[in-house]
Amino acid sequence: MPDQMGDKAALRALPSVDRVLGAPDALAAADRFGRTELTAAVRAVLAELRAGAALAGPLPDLATILRRATERLEARDRSNLRPLFNLTGTVLHTNLGRALLAEAAVEAATAAMRDAVALEFDLDTGRRGERDDHLRALLCELTGAEDATVVNNNAAAVLIALNTLGQGRDAVVSRGELIEIGGAFRMPDIMARAGVRLVEVGTTNRTHPKDYRNALGPETGLVLKVHTSNYRIEGFTAEVDGGALAAIAREAGVPLLNDLGSGTLVDLSRWGLRREPTVRDTVAEGADLVTFSGDKLLGGPQAGFIVGRRDLIAAVNRNPMKRALRVDKIRLAALEATLRLYRDPDRLADRLPTLRLLRRSAAEIEAQSRRLLPRVAAILPPGLTVEPCACRSQVGSGALPTDTLPSFALRFTVPRGRDLEALAAALRALPRPVIGRVHDGALILDLRCLEDEEGLLDTVAALPRDPSLALA
Ligand SMILES: *Cc1c(COP(=O)(O)O)cnc(C)c1O
Repeated sequence: MPDQMGDKAALRALPSVDRVLGAPDALAAADRFGRTELTAAVRAVLAELRAGAALAGPLPDLATILRRATERLEARDRSNLRPLFNLTGTVLHTNLGRALLAEAAVEAATAAMRDAVALEFDLDTGRRGERDDHLRALLCELTGAEDATVVNNNAAAVLIALNTLGQGRDAVVSRGELIEIGGAFRMPDIMARAGVRLVEVGTTNRTHPKDYRNALGPETGLVLKVHTSNYRIEGFTAEVDGGALAAIAREAGVPLLNDLGSGTLVDLSRWGLRREPTVRDTVAEGADLVTFSGDKLLGGPQAGFIVGRRDLIAAVNRNPMKRALRVDKIRLAALEATLRLYRDPDRLADRLPTLRLLRRSAAEIEAQSRRLLPRVAAILPPGLTVEPCACRSQVGSGALPTDTLPSFALRFTVPRGRDLEALAAALRALPRPVIGRVHDGALILDLRCLEDEEGLLDTVAALPRDPSLALA
């Protein structure tokens, strides 16, 4: 097609929709997106060309018009929930979906999605079963509790447990434990919605047994203990530990609810992490109900567990809220598969991604950064520089808040006067987005959570070389 035509001539030279749809690759594109969608996209590209025709320039050929139309459809179909590289250094990143599931859990969930399963059906008797039955035995085995139930997330577990034990009555809690967890979860607000009256005891930094004893009375529905999972009070402090508090509650004849938050089923010190109280410890020291998350340190899908005394779990299950907070077959299948992995602690860290990533040593990650460095440098758009650097990862989701883990990163810098944010944005816009963090004038990609090295290289190679991005 000739260059530099006049407007009218350019418009006349634009092909019709039908001609574009008759191009060699149009059949395949129509097959992929549907003929209606493709026609609309072609029409939109032609309209754009027509609007820009005054700018003249060479007119694209049929194949190019078709390609632009399919690119529009691809971009529109691209989900924002598509997989990305979490190189933020936060292993359990709430905004990036927390725990990655073990392969066994993915397989179990997929199978349950595709087919009918005996969700509330007893295969032995042929009668109605209970959806909690699939996890009850496993949870009891792994925690030493008498009984167990599962709801949508730990916030829901706390809500329904509070409501079941204390609606219209007092819930006694230490001032040092009235936590807020990321935005919408504030313990006093949840208590109000659960219909319990908050009775605060002690002070922010010190709470003693007598503070609890003085608050207990005929109006008390429960004593609440909350694991301060996302901060630590240090210095002149005193708290009543779970065992002592269980004794105080028992004396007064009221149940003790212990919200562990992250909650872990195994002693993490085995993998070099700080020892957190396990759910089994908490049950053993006398808590009547214990709540914890499915997708924090436990490494499963989003869920909230409630374990403890049989009569209290039965009361939770009778609460009409349970129906509103229950989990579906897909997550139950994934939870069951995840929990099963805990039966074999020796292989747990190989199978459970959360633990596998948390236990990676700085030396291992440093070796990875050295391996990647020349290959990344070779595919970077001109102007960018990359070097390895030591950094610190964190567990995330409020778990082990004060412990950071030594790690290694690739550190990207842009030429003076260029915009680092443009680089971060270009990485986010990739087909598989790459998410790092901007720190100290550089973009840091912490490699702790990088398992697919070749995938990252392929992705970075697709960074645009377009100078309008201000990268070159
Ligand atoms: C994280 C957390 C919650 C909320 O759990 P979700 O699973 O995010 O709903 C509640 N209590 C504590 C102590 C927590 O750490």
